[in-house]
Amino acid sequence: MSVLFLSLGVTLLYAEFAVAERQVARGRHDCPPCIFKSTPMLLRENIPLAPLTTFRLGGPARFFVEGRTVGEVQEAVAFSNSNNLPLFVLGGGSNLVVADSGWPGLVLKVAIPGIERRSGEIDGKALFDVGAGESWDRFVSHAVMAYCAGVECLSGIPGSVGGTPVQNVGAYGQEVSETIESVEVLDRKDGQVRELCREACGFTYRSSIFNTTERGRFIILRVAYALTRGGAPRIRYADLQRHFEGRETLPNLAETREAVRHIRALKGMLIVDGDPDCRSAGSFFKNPIISREQHEDLQKRAAAKGLTLPSYPALEKSKKVSAAWLVEHSGFARGYGDSHVGISSKHALAIVNRGGATADEVLALKEQIQQRVEEIWGVQLEPEPVMVGF
Ligand SMILES: Cc1cc2nc3c(=O)[nH]c(=O)nc-3n(C[C@H](O)[C@H](O)[C@H](O)COP(=O)(O)OP(=O)(O)OC[C@H]3O[C@@H](n4cnc5c(N)ncnc54)[C@H](O)[C@@H]3O)c2cc1C
Repeated sequence: MSVLFLSLGVTLLYAEFAVAERQVARGRHDCPPCIFKSTPMLLRENIPLAPLTTFRLGGPARFFVEGRTVGEVQEAVAFSNSNNLPLFVLGGGSNLVVADSGWPGLVLKVAIPGIERRSGEIDGKALFDVGAGESWDRFVSHAVMAYCAGVECLSGIPGSVGGTPVQNVGAYGQEVSETIESVEVLDRKDGQVRELCREACGFTYRSSIFNTTERGRFIILRVAYALTRGGAPRIRYADLQRHFEGRETLPNLAETREAVRHIRALKGMLIVDGDPDCRSAGSFFKNPIISREQHEDLQKRAAAKGLTLPSYPALEKSKKVSAAWLVEHSGFARGYGDSHVGISSKHALAIVNRGGATADEVLALKEQIQQRVEEIWGVQLEPEPVMVGF
């Protein structure tokens, strides 16, 4: 039995597979093919994506489904395959620029819930299995309340748990790759569910196999995190050290989480209702990793302008440079721009939608910044957000 809902001009469709097959066999194409065998998963059409992103811009998805179980995710993938629809996997929408024309195929929002702590410990670590659709910050709060250390500095990062391995999210001295034990994925190559150990994920700075060599191949279903029960918070990052300056006792995990959220809010890097500076995709550019020679050249260019390049801990053969510093010293100060799109008044690295912005306007500003930074500093800035539908 198939039921057709019409609501606000949006077609909502739910049907049993057998009925769909009969319709297709009869050549009936007056509605989109009905697909789902046994789940009450709705296939919706022409769904605006802007409200599902933190940037709040971009066009609609041709088709849209939410997968709340592994089975639903598999069915959605089968639907996109059998209908030759390009598939885009959506998490919390906090690292995206969606094209004004939207996405021409199926958008699958992975909404698998659940935070489960395994019984016992492995090598003194508590293990948490977390559904990809859980809010990342809800999981961090859960871990902190359970006195488990390892993700407290990543408090306040928006988005889903499933989004965190993709670019190996990091902030305030921690990266998620330090605590990921394994990632359960659906392999679109052969339809199998597999478990990838940390090493197999190929984590480096803002990078993993999920956004490089194997981009588009895996759908993340669950992530297992190994946290240190009763561990101390990591207070290595300068902003955090300043926050706790003068304190005689070590802050606990909950205090560290609150400090990180407080610092993030001051920078527009926490989603706060009514703050126009957080209508963004967070940092728009990655901190460039450059060679020692390039770094020396950059230092000379800075010195010629009477400036000092802020330093980051050195890597072996390369150096990390602050993208925010490069942007700010290329004529794009905080608050830059007086149209729909500009730079956050709190952080030079965030391009913000001031209301009514288009993706094209964002890309125009992005290109302007990249060009100026390269002209002045000889460094190419690489965008951090994922471009969808361009
Ligand atoms: C205010 C603000 C502050 C931010 N601060 C930080 C920060 O400090 N550090 C940092 O690293 N990032 C930061 N970000 C960026 C962003 O929050 C993270 O990258 C986040 O992990 C993205 O997760 P998401 O669920 O929102 O993914 P989405 O934006 O929905 O998707 C991003 C990419 O991941 C893929 N993806 C998402 N879910 C899955 C899945 N289940 N399976 C396979 N692929 C998937 C998508 O296809 C897409 O390619 C910030 C963003 C904002 C808006």
